Amino acid sequence: MSRYSFRSLLLIALVAVAAVTPVHAGPQAATAAPPAAATAAPQAALPQVVVLATGGTIAGAAASDVQAGYASGQVGVEQLLAAVPQAKKLAQLRGEQISNIGSQDMNDEVWFKLAKRINELCAMPDVAGVVITHGTDTIEETAYFLNLVVKSKKPVVMTASMRPSTALSADGPLNFYNAVAVAASKEAVGRGVLVVINDWIHGASSLTKTSTTAVQTFMSPLWGLVGTIAYGDAEFFRGPVGKNTAESDFSLAGVSALPRVDIVMAHENMDGAMIDAAVAAGAKGVVIAGVGNGNMTEGALKALAAAAKKGVVCVRASRVTTGRVGRNVEVDDDKLGLVASMGLNPQKARVLLRLALTRTADVKQIQRFFDEY
Ligand code: ASP
Repeated sequence: MSRYSFRSLLLIALVAVAAVTPVHAGPQAATAAPPAAATAAPQAALPQVVVLATGGTIAGAAASDVQAGYASGQVGVEQLLAAVPQAKKLAQLRGEQISNIGSQDMNDEVWFKLAKRINELCAMPDVAGVVITHGTDTIEETAYFLNLVVKSKKPVVMTASMRPSTALSADGPLNFYNAVAVAASKEAVGRGVLVVINDWIHGASSLTKTSTTAVQTFMSPLWGLVGTIAYGDAEFFRGPVGKNTAESDFSLAGVSALPRVDIVMAHENMDGAMIDAAVAAGAKGVVIAGVGNGNMTEGALKALAAAAKKGVVCVRASRVTTGRVGRNVEVDDDKLGLVASMGLNPQKARVLLRLALTRTADVKQIQRFFDEY
């Protein structure tokens, strides 16, 4: 939403609250004194948002409020909701527990369960949006996976925290509040899966975790932020990057498992042993977290080309935090039958490759997916 359109909307909301629901306008409108006509059923005007909890530090607990050690996934969804009563002024909220794990343990079983439930909820006419609470370690992978398999334009908004719920200055409650505000907002419709954390609104394809411990850990280095949010007041800058959700070619309908794809990191003096090991372990695809523009040693490249020749789809990504890995720069992708990850980091390239392999093993078609998503 542009600054101009948001202000216009807010003005309309303040001048004529009876005619405007708080769906578009953030918490100011939700908390503005309603005229007599609107007092009869104020709750009915609030959009319905369903919270799906998966665990993570946002549901974590420690024995003291100043200790580094803690356990993820200790607090249930009802406690999470009860901890942020302010969010009930933004939306009618109800919660469901999908899992309660640290996201380092995120797995395909939870992913399938989550995607199925989100698709069911988004198909319900009375549900305006979904919030998913998650750990920060793998939130970018889950967000990108959902971005490809959720079949709805409704807001699907993930959030997390770096500090456990018991910590001094816990960041979870405000992140949760902001996520609910975005999920309840019509301005968030059609922007793909979003991640709302530390006052920033990220797109699923762009965000990445950059600090192991800092609260300001998530960045969208290549494509920038989708928007910002302050105490539920969102401002949107752009739409999604890459095909997503309702327009995605991918679906879990009829898919019971995703193929194995391994990530191998490139480094000085690398040989092909880890690539060979991935192939021997049954990988249908290999993603190289290459140096620089998806580069690797000659020995590694030889092993990669040999894997590609056997029909294992090999994608060159980069271990560098930002920048695009293009085709045929220092590596002859055309000759060796390789795929370039374009703007996706290795962990997201792995997600796209796993889904792409449910559709085809054709390298040219898979490159097209990487160009488009
Ligand atoms: N290990 C935690 C997790 O990903 C870290 C966090 O949530 O911040 O679940």
